[in-house]
Amino acid sequence: MAGLEDLYREIILDHYRTPRNRGELPPPAAHAVGHNPLCGDEIDVYIEVQDGPHGAVVSDVKVGGQGCSISQSSASMMSQAIKGKSVAEVRALVRRFKGLMSIDVDESDTSVDLALVESAKLGDLEALQGVVKFPVRIKCATLAWNTLLDALAQSA
Ligand code: ZN
Repeated sequence: MAGLEDLYREIILDHYRTPRNRGELPPPAAHAVGHNPLCGDEIDVYIEVQDGPHGAVVSDVKVGGQGCSISQSSASMMSQAIKGKSVAEVRALVRRFKGLMSIDVDESDTSVDLALVESAKLGDLEALQGVVKFPVRIKCATLAWNTLLDALAQSA
């Protein structure tokens, strides 16, 4: 029987080889670019935010860029996890993922709903939890998420 680490490796490679939501969105979609010079990773995040009956929603997302399997698979999983979610849920998921990566978060940041952080579902993203053992790779895994925050800030 395959171990959990093998399963996680398969999930990461699957997203790397078959990235979800690959492409671009035309303006007025928000577009942010992130770089990780330590590894040479680049991520483009395009998001479309629309007002819905329960607040703003990330109605569409596309991801571009190039780099290592961790950076690109994290971006693919992120796009899958945030599409169609409310901006509040997306911000909670960013917090949850950074927690998985053992990154200190700004507890005074009141833009994040802690109840939503508790209920946020990581899904495939749990496959990246092994990255936490390799501090240099944490920057690869979080690049797409920091770029997403830049894109969200533009569309606010
Ligand atoms: Zn990398």
